[in-house]
Amino acid sequence: MLTYKVQLYPNKQQQATLIEQLDICRKLYNKLLEECKKAREKGEKLTQNRTQSFIVGLKNNSMPELKGVHSKVLQMVNHTLWTNIKSLSKLKKNGRKIGHLRFKGKGWYKTINYNQSGFKIDEYKNKITFSKIGTINCRGLNNRVRKNKIKGIILKHTQTGRWFANIQVENVPLVLPKTNKSVGIDVGISSFIVDSDGIRVENPKNIDKQIKKIKVTHRTLSRKKKGSKNWLKAKLQLAKLLEEITNQRKDFLHKVSRFYVDNYDLICVEDLDIKELSQKGNKKNKRSRTLHRHILDASWGQFFNYLSYKAVNADKEVVKVHPKGTTQECSRCGRIVKKNLLTRIHFCPHCDLELDRDYNASINILKRGTGCASILVENRPLVTITASAIVSGQVFSMNQATPSLR
Ligand SMILES: [Zn+2]
Repeated sequence: MLTYKVQLYPNKQQQATLIEQLDICRKLYNKLLEECKKAREKGEKLTQNRTQSFIVGLKNNSMPELKGVHSKVLQMVNHTLWTNIKSLSKLKKNGRKIGHLRFKGKGWYKTINYNQSGFKIDEYKNKITFSKIGTINCRGLNNRVRKNKIKGIILKHTQTGRWFANIQVENVPLVLPKTNKSVGIDVGISSFIVDSDGIRVENPKNIDKQIKKIKVTHRTLSRKKKGSKNWLKAKLQLAKLLEEITNQRKDFLHKVSRFYVDNYDLICVEDLDIKELSQKGNKKNKRSRTLHRHILDASWGQFFNYLSYKAVNADKEVVKVHPKGTTQECSRCGRIVKKNLLTRIHFCPHCDLELDRDYNASINILKRGTGCASILVENRPLVTITASAIVSGQVFSMNQATPSLR
């Protein structure tokens, strides 16, 4: 099962309805939990089906407001309760000391779960209609969502007051034409990626700008009195900023990984787990772990995850190779050419090869991943792709242009 996240833009009235429905779900959750607790005190045990059957009774008696919520959504409230009960008892069985399930306070129920029914997607107009709520505008219903079978939609209210729909779709394998092409990918610091076809993907430029903003907001937050109105305001601003960065980064990573899975049958990358380990002992490296670096590190891990699952889904392959010496080795003659972090060019005194340092590394990665000892290495200018070109979709038109780049 795959999940696509799209932002929803409910109007004022819809927002009010959504908030009201969340609260009704919360009350139902608490009510059913209360029934479970009461039963336990009497030494009885309820089941998921039993509490489910309570809902009809509640609708007709003490909680008529339940009628305002789609019936499947109510069922899923019961389902959530039982998922919580089961995971708690599992923890107990494992010998953990834990308390009881708690009632949810106001504002602590954040999802409305439409499972199987009660929704309709209009992908061309970018609208989703929810039963008992209405038609809500959204952004980002892409081609993939159209083709797949939709299993359900979970509406989510975030900390910052925004609404998202997590669209769950059946994982239908993508049939992509085989390209018979392999690529080695080196992730770097000065650029996000340099690959063995000579393509350089730049880091998103806005990272630094956003980090600055985060730092400023952090400072503002720390100067305010905890719990005060201005403190809450700064806190919300910070959360919004982080949410924005996360979404932008994910969008970028999805598009870059899509580009590689569409264009190559075999994608070779370094095994980052090993790389991480070998760098832990390196004190110099530790000191240079700034926030910027931290965000990039997180991005690479996420990028490889996206790459892997997209590849599996399209019957393509991702190979992880040992990272040791990929930068130092000469990709033509295989000898070691020492360089430090500042050396941007690989120049081999043994065979005279002169290449961009990351380009050289990416060819080594390709060699290791394919087991191919000799790969024609040529010195040519790298083709640079900006992050904004990728996000705006211009890179998809590269699909046709790629062969001519070779
Ligand atoms: Zn050489």
